[in-house]
Amino acid sequence: MKKVVAGIDVGGTFTKFGIVDREGKVYADDSISTDAHMDIEGYLDQLAGSIRKLLEESGEKVELQGIGVGAPNSNYYSGSIEYAPNLNWKGVIPFANLLGSRFSVPIAITNDANAAALGEMIYGSARNMKNFIVITLGTGLGSGIVVNGEVVYGHDGFAGELGHVIVHEDGRHCGCGRKGCLETYVSATGIKRTVYELLARRTEESELRKIPFDKLTAKNISKAADRGDRIALKAFDVTGRILGKSLADVVALFSPEAIFLLGGLAKAGDHIFKPAKAYMEKNLFNVFRDKVKILPSGLTKANAAVLGAAGLICKEILD
Ligand SMILES: [Zn+2]
Repeated sequence: MKKVVAGIDVGGTFTKFGIVDREGKVYADDSISTDAHMDIEGYLDQLAGSIRKLLEESGEKVELQGIGVGAPNSNYYSGSIEYAPNLNWKGVIPFANLLGSRFSVPIAITNDANAAALGEMIYGSARNMKNFIVITLGTGLGSGIVVNGEVVYGHDGFAGELGHVIVHEDGRHCGCGRKGCLETYVSATGIKRTVYELLARRTEESELRKIPFDKLTAKNISKAADRGDRIALKAFDVTGRILGKSLADVVALFSPEAIFLLGGLAKAGDHIFKPAKAYMEKNLFNVFRDKVKILPSGLTKANAAVLGAAGLICKEILD
């Protein structure tokens, strides 16, 4: 009987899940719609049914040992999803308890960036690291901070909200209701806003001038930068500068061995990694210079989030 866990990644549109063993082998995976369900009970019934089906289809005989969940605005201590702006279920949802009434195994939940950090630590490129930080650059900016081999959850379960550290007084409006948060500049959405500002301020030709705002993506901007588009290159420089400076602050607080950049904007590769590294070094307190690596994820992109959620529960069981 092979011992396995289930990893569940709850996204605003889709929920992806898979059956994973301690070595990171994915036996079976699938997804269901998240936003088609207004009712959490109906959603969990479908999710539980699909996981049971995967267990049966896993080929070898498997024994479910636990379930790990990565979900936005989730609280590791209480097991709830709290006031998630991109999910249909409003208020505080006791997700782990509700799922626990459908399975008799331990269940743990955390936010997607913390899950990504655990995935990196258990299955990815942080396997031999005790102190590192994972930064996810998607619609927003998430961060998972690992100190002495443990994810930092803080007093109330929400530690590591680097995306909402204010980097510009009275700066861009943020989804959190405040202004100038890091994620309004450094995220797939943030770089779009920067491109628009640059296009308005500068006169250079740019292929990005022809793309409407709702069609512009981090990928378009990256492709344009590949072709030497000056607005795109400048946008990456601006973004990398703000990111690098923030990373220098983070290094001063946690002294990590490495910082991993994941997510849509990280796929731009050198366009974002190079300025982030250069501006981090430029702003680092001297004792930290030339010591901190900036790395891509060691997990394959297709099931990285599922592996992260699986990593969360693997860690719980091992501890
Ligand atoms: Zn904010």
